[in-house]
Amino acid sequence: MSTEHRTHYRTCPLCEATCGLAITTRGRTVEVIRGDADDVFSHGFICPKGPALRDLDADPDRLRAPQIRRGDTWASVGWNEAFAEVERRLTPVIQAHGRGAVGVYLGNPSVHNTALALYSRALLRILGTRSVFSASTVDQMPKQVAVGLMFGTMLSVPVPDVDRTHYLLILGADPLVSNGSLMTAPDMKGRLRAIRARGGSVVVVDPRRSKTAEEATRHHPIRPGTDALLLLALVQTLFAENRVRLGALAPHVAGLDRVREVAALFTPERVAPHCGVPADAIRTIARELADAPSAAVYGRVGTCTQEFGTLASWLVDVVNVLTGNLDRPGGAMFPKAAAGQANSRGAGGRGRGVRLGRHTSRVRGLPEVFGELPIATLAEEIETPGDGQIRALVTIAGNPVLSTPGGARLARALGSLECMVSLDIYRNETTRHAHVILPGLSPLEQSHYDVAFTQLAIRNFARYSPPVFEAPAGNPRDWETVLRLTAIVAGQGAGAEPAALDDLVATQQVEALVGASDSPIQGRDPAEILAALAPRRGPCSKRIRTASTWARWSRASPRCSARPAGRSSLPPSRSSPTSRGSVPAWTRRRRSSSWSDAGSSARTTRGCTTPPRS
Ligand code: SF4
Repeated sequence: MSTEHRTHYRTCPLCEATCGLAITTRGRTVEVIRGDADDVFSHGFICPKGPALRDLDADPDRLRAPQIRRGDTWASVGWNEAFAEVERRLTPVIQAHGRGAVGVYLGNPSVHNTALALYSRALLRILGTRSVFSASTVDQMPKQVAVGLMFGTMLSVPVPDVDRTHYLLILGADPLVSNGSLMTAPDMKGRLRAIRARGGSVVVVDPRRSKTAEEATRHHPIRPGTDALLLLALVQTLFAENRVRLGALAPHVAGLDRVREVAALFTPERVAPHCGVPADAIRTIARELADAPSAAVYGRVGTCTQEFGTLASWLVDVVNVLTGNLDRPGGAMFPKAAAGQANSRGAGGRGRGVRLGRHTSRVRGLPEVFGELPIATLAEEIETPGDGQIRALVTIAGNPVLSTPGGARLARALGSLECMVSLDIYRNETTRHAHVILPGLSPLEQSHYDVAFTQLAIRNFARYSPPVFEAPAGNPRDWETVLRLTAIVAGQGAGAEPAALDDLVATQQVEALVGASDSPIQGRDPAEILAALAPRRGPCSKRIRTASTWARWSRASPRCSARPAGRSSLPPSRSSPTSRGSVPAWTRRRRSSSWSDAGSSARTTRGCTTPPRS
């Protein structure tokens, strides 16, 4: 291995901000991690967690070999032995009770790992279980339900155009500490200060005097759980003072009279005693939102993890609509990701919309949302005997015993499982109950592309990160681990070759895309597409980096440009939470123009064979 100093450029996978990192290595050692000053999205910003990737990579506690638990004793084993143990434990459960007896928990890091994000879908598809859980149901799911019903897909989340707005109202969020959530934006401190520096205002509504509140123009403490009341009073004021200005949104809005009728009950004087924000302060906020040259309302975890989370999340965008600030510069805008975004494809106004509650949890009858059941039901679904009882569990990059409510009860329930398999790089409060732990690679040993967070970003960009280090010899990549697990579930056995399943997954994906009316490759020959991607294995193709599509994306790479989140006129979508069936799909024409007008020549990216700087 070379002992020369080398600098690698990649995206930090540790939070939604997706900062660009410059990582200096010597051999297999990370010497220093800095913010990449030339990254067009993060401009050198990083938080203290970014450099800590070095500690994570070198951490002696990070699992590097599969673990099998026998009683209270753990043994490090080889990969074939580990998969054989998974087969030995999991297959009898499936044969006796069906695949529905297997639950899956997807942790937050699985969204920050391209292989896990893409290949977990194959496992879920083959498994076909209804017992799917994730961290989303203790975090942002109310927002996803609201935007799903309002705009047609679960990731059609409008994000504040913080770099151009004149007025930002923040409810239940502390982006100075979180670095933004459902709003991918490195250096929120700098961006919020810039709003004030250009004469704008940042107003925070939060029960706590958070770090963000300390930096704000004003802070209004609110009684927890009453954000929906305050937002309804804002809506009432906008109507009562004739300040509703739909502007270009007017043709796309439905149910306006009903919203006015409902909000009329919630005057500022009526809600003030409940939410603790004085009536005159509520009116002032409504007037400022209406009068600002541009404004955005942003609500996050505090507005979601409460009794009226979906209502509050919907009202955030109702206010954005009523003040004419949805889908316009300086307002709340829809990002246009280069890949994987449902609402940047197809013709506007078409689509099936979202359906919720297609099945319910077995014990409490709670509805599914986007294929998931509330994580709060996992323990009882394991503990309660009967048809459909969860008897085996696969956890992927998550620690729900620590991060979800009722952790002690969940820990007890996990201890009763007939089979538990965890894909995780640590033995922790959750994975210590597993019978087999299959460790993933270090983040620095994997390629990365942010499929999810480019769909929530305040700028449109595309960045591919190649691995900094080679994976240790004999270690499967994360996608191979997931596919070997999938093969066991499919009955192909522990010795199945993941490449065959990988080919099947890729073929199914391509066939689905060429058959979709809103796909950029609709009607193309699947064999031709697969040949163009070859040689391909896992989520990465050497050739795709030089394919025309990638070349187009590369124009917006860190080396080239990032663009403001997409300005597009709304398709004929309806803005009532009761409306369904319309998908605000940005047309192919829109996306093409956005990406093709970047104006720079097609040059290689950091993910390409010739990094532009080394
Ligand atoms: S803010 Fe998030 S993405 Fe940026 S360095 Fe810190 S952890 Fe990484």
